[in-house]
Amino acid sequence: MSRSVLVTGGNRGIGLAIARAFAEAGDKVAITYRSGEPPTGFLAVKCDITDPEQVEQAYKEIEEKQGAVEVLVANAGVTRDQLLLRMSEEDFTSVVETNLTGTFRVVKRASKAMLRARKGRVVLISSVVGLMGSPGQANYAASKAGLVGFARSLARELGSRNITVNVVAPGFVDTDMTRVLTDEQRAGIVGNVPLGRYAQPEEIAASVRFLASEDAAYITGAVIPVDGGLGMGH
Ligand code: NDP
Repeated sequence: MSRSVLVTGGNRGIGLAIARAFAEAGDKVAITYRSGEPPTGFLAVKCDITDPEQVEQAYKEIEEKQGAVEVLVANAGVTRDQLLLRMSEEDFTSVVETNLTGTFRVVKRASKAMLRARKGRVVLISSVVGLMGSPGQANYAASKAGLVGFARSLARELGSRNITVNVVAPGFVDTDMTRVLTDEQRAGIVGNVPLGRYAQPEEIAASVRFLASEDAAYITGAVIPVDGGLGMGH
């Protein structure tokens, strides 16, 4: 059965791998992008999730062109790393505004139609860093930890309407976000990963697709680590 799927930040990195995984399974997939040329093969809608107007417009376009969103993957996210004493208000609030408030915004809008339909799947992309902490990433870790409380509250609120809300917490994944790290930093990270390597975006996508599948119908409020063992016990 072909569903209407939305992946925020689906134009590159992990989001693009997730969008491809759903499209390969035969779903109709919309992705958001902010600038440049989006990848082909999807309904690409221009949307900055920090702007409520753009979020509303994007949903209208998706509803018109591929139907109300039945599966939402809130993947868009940013980092702005800095040690605490050097972290500005703007460094902190801009990361929270995108990763946490932006996610609230897109989930709230998607929930309208899901509540009406009495079914829906929501998957939020958090991070192992939100569970373990990371020096220089207090803003990012706080935003990603916030997603867990947000998801679990919604799992309780929306469960009776057959809407599941789950979190995937990736470890280090080979994308633009981690390509900015130095070789030394990368080697340090990999040294702490039991599987001894970074994840490929497709490995995150597989778990997301599972959580949105019929096989995961009884899973809600879960945090699924896909981190090569990095966060064990967190
Ligand atoms: P990338 O930096 O490669 O991509 C980030 C995506 O988010 C882009 O599509 C970007 O769009 C989009 N985005 C950022 N800000 C906004 C915004 N305000 N509105 C709409 N879209 C926005 O990152 P990854 O693919 O690596 O990360 C994807 C998600 O996975 C993020 O939430 C990240 O925190 C999380 N994650 C990543 C890990 C990693 O190791 N890479 C590990 C754990 C979690 P645009 O192209 O327009 O900039």
